[in-house]
Parts: sequence; structure tokens; C-alpha cells
Amino acid sequence: MPPVRCARCGAEDARYHISFARTSLCAACYVRYYERKLKATVLKYGMLKVMRRPLVALSGGKDSTSALVGLKSVFPDLEVTALYIDLGIPGYSEESERVVRKVTDELGVELIVHRLKNDGRTVPELARGRFKRKPCAICGTVKRYVMNKIAIETGHDTVVTGHNLDDTVEVLFELYRRGLLEEAVRLRPVLLGDGVRLTNRVKPLFEMTDEEDLYYVDAKGIEVVESWCPLVRGAKTVSRKVLIHEIESKIPGFRHTLLKAHVKRFLPVLERAISQPELKRCAVCGYPTTSDVCSYCRAMRPVTLKRDVGSSGAGASNGEEGLR
Ligand code: SF4
Ligand SMILES: [Zn+2]
Ligand SMILES: [Zn+2]
Repeated sequence: MPPVRCARCGAEDARYHISFARTSLCAACYVRYYERKLKATVLKYGMLKVMRRPLVALSGGKDSTSALVGLKSVFPDLEVTALYIDLGIPGYSEESERVVRKVTDELGVELIVHRLKNDGRTVPELARGRFKRKPCAICGTVKRYVMNKIAIETGHDTVVTGHNLDDTVEVLFELYRRGLLEEAVRLRPVLLGDGVRLTNRVKPLFEMTDEEDLYYVDAKGIEVVESWCPLVRGAKTVSRKVLIHEIESKIPGFRHTLLKAHVKRFLPVLERAISQPELKRCAVCGYPTTSDVCSYCRAMRPVTLKRDVGSSGAGASNGEEGLR
């Protein structure tokens, strides 16, 4: 097969084929393309206006790593700190932490490591109990809680995550299918906090596909975790992503069209029609929740409840139920 030429500069080694755009680029042009798009997304959604001191949540995977590396490359003056949450998943967590330490060292970014075992239960321990059938659901709750808590405690106004277009479309697909509009209205690139116990949440990769993130770390020569979390087996998220790719193969542009329709057509209507649930303070930890005790404290029971009930609202952590 003749070498593919870069659509921008004509170089022969155009190894990055962006399938939805049907174009191939060489490494140098691809990095420029990705960083320009990242910058445009950040500016379009006003992310720079909300994140003065961002805390980037790193998992060691391609997406969160792309978010950190991309932000540092495009906005070198941004005062960024990274957070790694050790979920206590044997083998996988150690490997992820090694990779996260490597990239933050290379970038000279301060890294905060939070070990879930010090909170009472690791994700595999939680997944052995009543969350056996949904380890990713409780893992997501725990991660959102810890991200917010650490950001508040360390004076960061914004949590940055690596959620990308494919993640958003997969969740949107499910939310609209089930009519969960109260959750769909929260699925956006910027979520504002309350400035006290709830930080802002920003997703700079909101318009990037999995493929684009993967190409970016590859083109930059950055190591990411290649193995899959052992708890992901059978997760509905994975089968939904496969299904969405099948739809995309039949209806090219499906994912981008759905995301655009959500942001431009549905969100403005949903924002007017749906009022946000009133947030209370968790009786155990004092962080925002829609119920009396937040999901995190309930999941960590009996450890957290035993330890903290009685110092009601003393507030060492946060609960962000319903936040995506
Ligand atoms: S695959 Fe599921 S359990 Fe594993 S890290 Fe991701 S969300 Fe957590
Ligand atoms: Zn090129
Ligand atoms: Zn709580």
C-alpha cells in the first residue's frame, strides 16, 4: 500500500486517521490539530473564566492524561495540580499510579495521591458487598466525592476530568432512553459549584472522541495505562459504547450530531423546565447531598457512620449525588 500523505503538510507518514473527519495527519500536524481544538473548546464554553486553580483528576488512562498534558501545553501559565485516587484495585491501581507519577514528574506538576483504603473501604471491598452487580456505579460515586473533597480541602476551585465526547454520548443515550431528564440537564461541559462545598466541574475534552485522545498521547509519546480495570467486565458502559459505534458505522456523524443536539437544542429547554434538587448537608460529613446522608457515607458504612455520626456536619468530605 502506498504511504498515506498528511492532509495538512503532505508528509508521507500520516499515521493518524481521524475516522469521523475522514482525514489523515502526521504526528506534528495531529498534535497541532488536537491542541487547537482543545483550546477552542476551553474558550467556547468559558472554562478559563471558572478555573483559576484547577485540580485535574488523573486515572492514568488516555483521556485524563490528554486533559492534563493538553491543558499544560495550551495554557502553560495555568496553575494546575493533579489528583490520583488510589481505588485499591490490586495490580491495576499500582500500575496506574506509576504512570500518573511518571507523567506529572515529566510535566513538573504537583501530584496529590488519595488512598481510598484510608477512608475505610477500597473499590473491590465495596464491590463485594451490595454493589456487587454495579462496581462502576459505586466507583463513580466515590471518585466524584473524593475529587470534590480534596479540591475543597486544598483550595482548588475546579475539578477537571477527562470525560470526552464518547463518554458523554454513551451516558446521554442511556439517559434519554430512560427519560432521566434531571440527570441529562447536568450533562454539560461546565458545571458550576457553590464556591463553598461544591467545586466547579470542567470537561475540556467534551468534544474529543476516544480515538482523538488515544492519538494525542501516542503522538506526544506519553505512556498511559494499557490494561483494563478488572472490574469493568460486563459493565453496561462498554457494551453501550460498542453499540454506539455500530450505529455510527451505519449513520456517520451520529455521535457528534447527538452531542450537538443535546448542547444546542435540548439543554436550553431542559434548563428552563427542570429545577435543580435542593441540596442539603450530609448529616455525617457535611458536604452537599440530596438526602440526609450522602451516597459516599452510606457506601462507606459502617466505618464512616460509626466514626462520624455525632459530629454531625463537621464536614471532612463531600457528597455530590446526581452529579455527573
Ligand atoms: S472500570 Fe469501573 S470499577 Fe474500574 S476504575 Fe473504572 S469506574 Fe472504577
Ligand atoms: Zn503533517
Ligand atoms: Zn456524607
